[in-house]
Amino acid sequence: MKHVVVIGGGLGGLAAALRLRARGFAVTVFEAGATFGGKMNRWCSKGFTFDTGPSLITMPWVFEDLFRAAGSRMEDHVQLLPLHPLSEYVYDDGTRFTYTSELPAWLRTVKQLEPRDVSGFLRFQQLGAQLFEVSKRTFLKCSPAERPGLEALSALRHMPLRYGWGNYHNTVAKHFRSPYLQQLYDRYPTYVGSSPFEAPATLALIPYLEYAFGGYAVRGGLYTIADSLVQLCHRNGVTMCVNSPVVRIETNKGAATGVVLADGRRSSADIVVMNGDSLRIPQLLGSVANKDARSMSGFVMLIGIDRSLPQIAQHTIFFSADYRQEFSDIFHRQQFPADPTVYVNAASRADRHLVPGEGETLFIMANAPAIGASWDAEQTAIARARVLQRLKRGGFPEITSATVVEDTWTPQRIEERYLMPGGAIYGSDSHGWKNAFFRPRNQDSAVRNLYRVGGSTHPGGGTPTVLLSAEITCRLIR
Ligand SMILES: Cc1cc2nc3c(=O)[nH]c(=O)nc-3n(C[C@H](O)[C@H](O)[C@H](O)COP(=O)(O)OP(=O)(O)OC[C@H]3O[C@@H](n4cnc5c(N)ncnc54)[C@H](O)[C@@H]3O)c2cc1C
Repeated sequence: MKHVVVIGGGLGGLAAALRLRARGFAVTVFEAGATFGGKMNRWCSKGFTFDTGPSLITMPWVFEDLFRAAGSRMEDHVQLLPLHPLSEYVYDDGTRFTYTSELPAWLRTVKQLEPRDVSGFLRFQQLGAQLFEVSKRTFLKCSPAERPGLEALSALRHMPLRYGWGNYHNTVAKHFRSPYLQQLYDRYPTYVGSSPFEAPATLALIPYLEYAFGGYAVRGGLYTIADSLVQLCHRNGVTMCVNSPVVRIETNKGAATGVVLADGRRSSADIVVMNGDSLRIPQLLGSVANKDARSMSGFVMLIGIDRSLPQIAQHTIFFSADYRQEFSDIFHRQQFPADPTVYVNAASRADRHLVPGEGETLFIMANAPAIGASWDAEQTAIARARVLQRLKRGGFPEITSATVVEDTWTPQRIEERYLMPGGAIYGSDSHGWKNAFFRPRNQDSAVRNLYRVGGSTHPGGGTPTVLLSAEITCRLIR
């Protein structure tokens, strides 16, 4: 039986382990941290339960496929909670409205904002649908290094060229006149840690996917998914090791032959799969680390309060006054934005299992530059004040007096806990078509038997694409 070592037990590593085990490989997962799941992580305190990472999933069938591949059924482990409405949006000038996937209600809102944008919205969705139809046969299914099959080639013939390769924001602006709708749709490239002003228009498939197929939370928190996958790994005979950082990938005659752990243990392998950030691979091979253009990190405050907030929606976005300036702060000045857009996920509004009695769990997040180690306590104080200022301006209720538990994740903490350089959540950014389409390969081009899985390889970050990367990588291995 061939032995596969997976470096990292994040979502991508767990998915690869399950898929390879189902194909008859002996699989060992070495995870540096004390728990599996990677950024799909959980924090519990005084009866409050928080997801510290992802709070929304799309493309639920990708998750179902994984459970099926592992010989199980997702519905036996995980209960999805569809988000109705998708979000509440609050703007700097006090404008606010609900973003719902109920088409008649949403078209009424669009019409009130700008009547001419009704047709723009429908055309934008059509563009997203076309891009998705092409992508699911090409980009989301195969590595760019693979020869395109006939199906992929015929799909590419239908690529909507006029907008597909342009700039994301320019494409949004061509479809929407309302500055409110422009800012709303400009937010989607942040789902892959990128700026709308620098990402390619192909990312228009993200708002389409969310609108057409829904966004979902999970009863008990998204961490339930990671927890279930770990159970399946144990049940199916994957060897699972926590507190086991890999410090070296061993090679012989240009092929990976095993790994060495920090405590000196060695594990030989026929195949090595890297689930940690791709940028770390040269270091593990004993060569000099490269540099890449990092995706965004995040500043996250987790707050549990002892009273309920029936007036707030499950998901609310409080937009900054100047979105272009915000991304310029993050990517060009490499600073936390002077005026951040703030996302509040009150998962407890839909799931009372997450709180003790009355109360709410609040996951409050702003985008941050991937500056990892240079983030300090002063930065945390500044970021906290700016986030609270934005919430106050948006009319968010005062919560300080009701706070029972609180924790904070900074770019530095994300870097240290998940070994992601800079604390970048999604590996390299998706700016320009080259970065978006030619990410580090699923199969290493220099070292035989070395593969990658997860958000820093193809097709990219975000939970469903991480699972798709596992599908692609495992097919390449087979
Ligand atoms: C705050 C936040 C919010 C997010 N929101 C969303 C969202 O709403 N929706 C969504 O879809 N996605 C979201 N994401 C992104 C999503 O969490 C990630 O894309 C996905 O979980 C990444 O999985 P992965 O397997 O690629 O990597 P990771 O989860 O980073 O797993 C990699 C694992 O490898 C381990 N590792 C690294 N190097 C080594 C080594 N040398 N030895 C041993 N182990 C090693 C790390 O410890 C880690 O556990 C969010 C992420 C964060 C942090």
